[in-house]
Amino acid sequence: SVQPRDSRSLDVVHFTAELAPIAKVGGLGDVVHGLARTCLARGHNVTVIMPFYECLPQDQIEGLGFDMDIEVPKGKSWDGEIQLTTLKTAVYRGVIGGVPVILVRPADWDACNLFRGGRIYGGSYNELESYLYFCRAGLEYLRCSGQQPHILHLHEWQTCAAALLYWEVYSALGLYRPRVVLTIHNLDNTGECRQDEFAFTGIDGEQFATIERALDERTIGHNPERLNLMKGGMVYSNAVTTVSPTYAKEVLSGMQAGWLRSTLMRPEVNSKVRGILNGIDVEEWGQHTSPTTPARTALSHRWLFLTVYMQVRGILNGIDVEEWDPARDELLPANFSAQFPDGKALCKKYLQRGLGLDESPDKPVVAVITRLVPQKGIHLIKAALFRCLDKGAQFVLLGSGHCDGEFKAMAEQQFKDHKDIRLLVMYSESLAHQIYAAADIILVPSMFEPCGLTQMIGMRYGAVPVVRKTGGLADTVRDVDSHAPGEANGYTFDGTDEGSLHGALDRALTHFKEQRASWTELSATNMNTELSWSRSSADYVALYNSIAMP
Ligand code: ADP
Repeated sequence: SVQPRDSRSLDVVHFTAELAPIAKVGGLGDVVHGLARTCLARGHNVTVIMPFYECLPQDQIEGLGFDMDIEVPKGKSWDGEIQLTTLKTAVYRGVIGGVPVILVRPADWDACNLFRGGRIYGGSYNELESYLYFCRAGLEYLRCSGQQPHILHLHEWQTCAAALLYWEVYSALGLYRPRVVLTIHNLDNTGECRQDEFAFTGIDGEQFATIERALDERTIGHNPERLNLMKGGMVYSNAVTTVSPTYAKEVLSGMQAGWLRSTLMRPEVNSKVRGILNGIDVEEWGQHTSPTTPARTALSHRWLFLTVYMQVRGILNGIDVEEWDPARDELLPANFSAQFPDGKALCKKYLQRGLGLDESPDKPVVAVITRLVPQKGIHLIKAALFRCLDKGAQFVLLGSGHCDGEFKAMAEQQFKDHKDIRLLVMYSESLAHQIYAAADIILVPSMFEPCGLTQMIGMRYGAVPVVRKTGGLADTVRDVDSHAPGEANGYTFDGTDEGSLHGALDRALTHFKEQRASWTELSATNMNTELSWSRSSADYVALYNSIAMP
C-alpha cells in the first residue's frame, strides 16, 4: 500500500525478541514487522535490533553478512560481588521481510548457551540472561557504530533493560539523542529478575531496587529482591504505549490485571501525578533529559514517568495487508476480494476436502487460530467446539501452546476422522492462511486480549468475528445487533461463561443459516475494512515526534 511520506525523517531503532516472518511466535513479531515496514515506507530510517537465535533460518535473511565484533560488558553475581567480564559479540546485518535488521550473538557460541536451541522461546538457553545480555549488546553496538537514533522503540519485558541501561550508563557514554518508547504488547509476563541476576547486563541491579525505579509494588511483600523489568522499562521510558485503547484503559483502571493500578495508583503517588502535571513546564522538563545534564536524578525519571503514565496511549495494531491479502495470497487455491468474492467458496471447499470434512457450503466453518494458553479462553474454545457440534456447524482449530494436551487427545480419539470437527494441534503459517480464507466465522473468546490480530486477519479474508468484548477485541469488533449495517462487523459477548459465548455464537450461526444474502454483504464489508498500518503508524510517528530531540 502507498504511504504518505512524512516531512521529517526520523531514525528509529527497535529492540525486539520477535520479528515476522521468520522469528515470530505470536502477534509481537507481526506488529514490529508491520510497523517497521510502514514507517520505512513513510520515509523513516528504521532498523530492528534482535537476537541472532540459533534457530533462525539463515537462508531467509537477505544479504546476511558480518558487520563487526564488539566487546559487551557482562557480569555475574558471586558471593555478593559482581564479577565483570566482557563477552565478544558478533554483529550481523541483513534484511528480513523488507526490514533492515541487526542480529547480535556471542562470537563463540560454543562457549556459552545464549539464544541456542531449536526454538525462539523455551529452548535450552537461559532466557533472562540472554535478553539482559541482548539489551546491553544492542546499546553497545549503537555506541560502537556511532549512531544517534532519535527513537529507541522497545517491546515487551525482554528489551526493557535497555531503557535502564540507556539512561544510567549509555547517556553518559556519548549516546545522547535517543528518546525511549516502550510498547506493551501483553502484561501477562512482566519479566521478574533478582537484583543479582540483573548483573548479566554488566551493572549492579541494586540501584534499581526502589519503588521509584524497578521494584514492583505487588511483589515487594513476598519477593523484595525482585526487580520487575517491565516496571523499570516504564519508569525509564519517555512514552509508554499499549496495543489498543481499551487495553490501556483496562490496565490503568485495574480491570485487566490492574498491574499499573497496584504499582502506581497509591494515593501519595497519585496526588504527585496531579501536582506534577499541573506544575511541570516543558522547558524545564526537557532539561532533565537534555544531553547537557546526563546525570539524571531518580526524581526526574519519576517525573518523566508519572507524566507519561497519565498518558499511556493505546495505539491499535494494524495488520500487514500485503502479507494478508486474499486477492494475491499464493498459499490459497483461489483468490478473492470484496468485488470478486467467489474464490472464498472454493477456498472453503478446498479446506474441507483437504481436512477430510463434509464438503458442504451450507455448514458454516467456525475457525480458531491461536496460541493455546489460558489467556485465550481455553474453556470457551472447547465450549464452542461442542456448540458447533450441536448446531450442525463445522469447527476447525489451529493452535499450539502449553494447554494443547486436551485438544491433542480429542483430536486423536473423539474427533479422529470426524466429518465436522478438525483439531490441528500445531503451528503452520500456510494452514493459517488457508483456514482464514475458508472460515465463515473467526472465533476469539479471550479472557483478555491486548489487541488481537486474528479477528482482523479473519475480517480481511471475509470471515465474521465472534469475540469476547475485551481489550483490542472490543475496539475492533462491533456487534451486528447494536450497530448499523456498514458499521457492524461481527458478534460480541461479555461474560466468561459458556452461556455468554453461546449467546453470540448462536446469533452468528442463525444469521449465516437464515439470512445468507445479508451474511454475504457483511463478509464483503469486512473485506473492505481499513485494517492496515496506515492509521496506526501515523499515531506512532506523531508520538515519536512529540518526544524526539532535534
Ligand atoms: P498473540 O500475540 O497473543 O499470540 P495475536 O492475535 O495478536 O495473539 O497474534 C497471533 C498471530 O499468530 C496471528 O498472526 C495468528 O495467525 C498467528 N498464529 C497463532 N497461532 C498460530 C498457529 N497455530 N499456526 C499459525 N499461526 C498462528
